[in-house]
Amino acid sequence: MTEEIVPRIHRVAIPLPKTPLGNLNCYIIRDRERCLILDTGFNTAECSSSLFRALRRLGVDPAESDVVLTHMHSDHSGLGYLLEEHGASIHCHPLDGRVVNAMGEWEEILSFGYRCGLPEEKLRQARDRHPGYRYRPDRPIRYSPLQDGDTLRTGDYCFTCLHTPGHSEGHICLHEPEQGLILCGDLILREITPNISQWSDSGNPLQNYLDSLERIQGLGPLLALPGHREPFRDPVQRIGEIKAHHQERLEEILSLLQEEGATPYEVASGMRWDLDCKDWRDFPLAQKWFATGEAMAHLRYLEQEGRITCDLLAGRYVFQNPQPGGKHV
Ligand SMILES: [Zn+2]
Repeated sequence: MTEEIVPRIHRVAIPLPKTPLGNLNCYIIRDRERCLILDTGFNTAECSSSLFRALRRLGVDPAESDVVLTHMHSDHSGLGYLLEEHGASIHCHPLDGRVVNAMGEWEEILSFGYRCGLPEEKLRQARDRHPGYRYRPDRPIRYSPLQDGDTLRTGDYCFTCLHTPGHSEGHICLHEPEQGLILCGDLILREITPNISQWSDSGNPLQNYLDSLERIQGLGPLLALPGHREPFRDPVQRIGEIKAHHQERLEEILSLLQEEGATPYEVASGMRWDLDCKDWRDFPLAQKWFATGEAMAHLRYLEQEGRITCDLLAGRYVFQNPQPGGKHV
């Protein structure tokens, strides 16, 4: 499915079967001289035929196009290498470009998953079922690094690149101030809240994410063109809802944590999740991993705020709430 959202900006819905997301929105900005393609879909035959069919229909030649990857997740970046083979120039933030090119190296991610409490015997199976691993690119890409403040021109559109870490470390948005457009990748989605996960020992992705939301809110965009589902008006209001959601999540986690402590995996198993499953035991393995990563991002945030403590016990992170049941302000 292809639709023109505003003049010359087309949305192509690329199917992502067997994911709760449904589709990936690839945006194609047409111009007589040079086109811009934002995000690609998984590295699967289905995504690639859908993408290349749309390019043909719109008369877009990859050899005369720039491709921008909003972030490293394989539903956004998986076909970058193929567009490059067809002559396109690839652009992304170097923090995520590095990860795209290391897509097959999961040992550090697996040992971090172990420290978060995922069952050891399931780790490799979880990796093999993980879409980021299964649908990764065939080979590394050569990319031009995009930095915060860089501009990209196509026809009469001029986009400013904004580095908006949180959903991934090198996540970027493209901002077009004249019409108030924000091409926001997975930073802001309408019906679903973007997954904010911790994937390594360092950093505080939830803090980064909330800072990125704050920054976009300050720009007052009028129309969001997100990576999944429908484009929507008034993203500023949606940002308010997402911020409130994370505050609720933080409170929920505090109420689950007791003095004896719990691993992120144990915390995740007690949280509410909007999935079509009876309980935690029925969750697909990949979803359990996402949930654990999300719990960890919130736990790390609370730890950095000094509200909870963390110890590494027998190789696992164990978080404790020194004031269980107490009032947290
Ligand atoms: Zn993503």
